[in-house]
Amino acid sequence: SAGPDDMPQEIWDKVKNHPCYSEEAHHHFARMHVAVAPACNIQCNYCNRKYDCSNESRPGVVSQKLTPDQAVKKVLAVASEIPQMTVLGIAGPGDSLANPKKTFDTMRQLAEKAPDIKLCLSTNGLALPDQVDEICKYNIDHVTITINMVDPAVGEKIYPWIFYDHKRYTGYEAAKILHERQMLGLEMLTARGVLTKINSVLIPGINDEHLIEVNREVKKRGAFLHNIMPLISEPEHGTVFGLTGQRGPTAQELKAVQDACMGGANLMRHCRQCRADAVGLLGEDRSEEFTLDKIEAMD
Ligand code: SF4
Ligand code: SF4
Repeated sequence: SAGPDDMPQEIWDKVKNHPCYSEEAHHHFARMHVAVAPACNIQCNYCNRKYDCSNESRPGVVSQKLTPDQAVKKVLAVASEIPQMTVLGIAGPGDSLANPKKTFDTMRQLAEKAPDIKLCLSTNGLALPDQVDEICKYNIDHVTITINMVDPAVGEKIYPWIFYDHKRYTGYEAAKILHERQMLGLEMLTARGVLTKINSVLIPGINDEHLIEVNREVKKRGAFLHNIMPLISEPEHGTVFGLTGQRGPTAQELKAVQDACMGGANLMRHCRQCRADAVGLLGEDRSEEFTLDKIEAMD
């Protein structure tokens, strides 16, 4: 079948069975996330480290952290219970590439033991250029980069600091490094033929209009899909934009930005912002059936 918007046929052929990319497939194919990556190398102003990384996950959720061995065991258990399980992602609870040993140990074991499962990961992009070789080694075919700005002047309002090359950077300089690493990482993945999706968190008054430019820049560098997600701002998530707090967008504001991006990178409109240990079809969450104690008991 034809893909959405103007997605080229060869890309559509690769992603049409992926529940996150195809409206059709998400009723028939299941995905899961394993939470093996606790650390993060940047600070987003909208993140409260008590909860999952909001780059990919719904904030306010605490996932059960697993070691790579536990994660592999869990994936194999889920795959034998849920035959539609086709995609395994690492999306936190911190940044997958700030925990390269844990992330790639999990991927390496799964590539051996469950070669039919498609692997994907999400990242803020800071460490990405250093990890592209590893990503290609395990045949990871989908990467998601969260890109909230392409201008460090916008970025410094979103990111108070990054930790890069054994050093902490703050302010404009931090945002500039992050921006350059994100663009380089995206270009490198495109050059290697790795499908790359971009997530952006829409933050009213900070990057709403700017996301149109983000959309243009990521499309130019080969991103095949752009997922504009609302900032989910509730007091208990500890959103720390200034002292007054930062609201999330209304449904109309979200749609207005998405509509303004039509004709740019293809937009994804059905992402559910799943938790870092989600299991099952999109829109259903079976993670409680596969907690660690239940997996251990399956032996
Ligand atoms: Fe939090 Fe994710 Fe941002 Fe790291 S990248 S600070 S875990 S939202
Ligand atoms: Fe798919 Fe979005 Fe859920 Fe990730 S968070 S598994 S992209 S629907």
